[in-house]
Amino acid sequence: MPFTVKALQKASADEPFKVVEIERRDPRADDVVIDIKAAGVCHSDIHTVRNEWGQAHFPLAVGHEIAGVVSAVGEGVTKYQVGDRVGVGCLVNSCGECEQCRNHQEQACLNGNVGTYNSTDVDGTITQGGYSQKVVVNENFVCRIPDSLDFDVAAPLLCAGITTYSPLANWNVHEGQNVAVLGLGGLGHMGVQIAVAMGANVTVLSRTTNKEAYAKELGASRLLATSEPDFFTNHRGEFDFILNTVAAQHDLNPFLNLLRRDGTLTLVGAPEHDHPSPQVFNLIMKRRRIAGSLIGGIAETQEMLDFCGQHGITSDIELIPMQQINEAYERMLKSDVKYRFVVDIDSLRV
Ligand code: NAP
Ligand code: ZN
Repeated sequence: MPFTVKALQKASADEPFKVVEIERRDPRADDVVIDIKAAGVCHSDIHTVRNEWGQAHFPLAVGHEIAGVVSAVGEGVTKYQVGDRVGVGCLVNSCGECEQCRNHQEQACLNGNVGTYNSTDVDGTITQGGYSQKVVVNENFVCRIPDSLDFDVAAPLLCAGITTYSPLANWNVHEGQNVAVLGLGGLGHMGVQIAVAMGANVTVLSRTTNKEAYAKELGASRLLATSEPDFFTNHRGEFDFILNTVAAQHDLNPFLNLLRRDGTLTLVGAPEHDHPSPQVFNLIMKRRRIAGSLIGGIAETQEMLDFCGQHGITSDIELIPMQQINEAYERMLKSDVKYRFVVDIDSLRV
């Protein structure tokens, strides 16, 4: 039987989040039901509900950094049992048959995957995300959270963790390399820790020096402020790899010039308005590359969770009750968060 749970939903871009009841589907044979304990607040949630990526399907509950406990399983489920500690990220389904899905790249499904929220599900309903008490998900889109990681600090790994791990792993970041992480927010603070654990010498590029002590606590060797005079000339040609997590439109040209010959600038930030196209000469003269990366596949998400478990990598969070969600969004728009808000889902039970 379908059942109802409490969730934080927005009825439109201009209205605040409100606690409402939403329906979750009758679990299918291959579904697990998850009691959500914690849900991270990703900047993508904000882009979505502000209609910055196109008109959202309201009423909508967002949240795709989900951590919790399996509370029921369908009769065909083989991977999970009641009581298992699990997480769900940005995807809840994909075709399973195309070249990308067969290659464990469900995020790139050629037939259109189903996002955890604001997506049209296989039954035609609009998916509702993790700012809610429970979610029903196909077992193939569920990952196991290592026992050593608490739910609240593990939840952001399901998006911020995999979005930074995947490009760092796929561009083979390793010891001896100079890696820069541009933007020290939710994604950035995960990217620094992961790149350090991969052995790289990591520099944080931030707008100001305000976060310098924190960057070093995360393992970065230094923080450089991009607003400093002559910054872009003083540091040209220094980096093998730059991970660009910035959530706003900007000129990529100066950042390209920070790359060594053969260096790569990988974009993961997904701003409302595209960056202007960079100049050809900044690419061809030093054989530099610009690339993009979208979250990661489910198998790679599990690999990232295990990597974080082994290295003791977690998100630095501000745990908030649901009553503070509207204020949290306002603060995040001012980059006033250290470094990820996570909603304590128990606060929805009252
Ligand atoms: P966030 O916590 O808000 O962090 C973004 C950081 O970007 C800020 O901390 C800030 O760093 C910098 N920044 C913000 N506004 C800026 C501006 N106007 N100019 C220059 N720098 C600015 O956001 P997030 O959750 O990490 O998400 C970052 C972006 O990645 C968003 O666009 C999000 O939608 C996207 N995203 C993409 C994927 C993917 O799969 N590709 C997955 C998740 C999220 P400093 O204060 O250090 O300068
Ligand atoms: Zn996200």
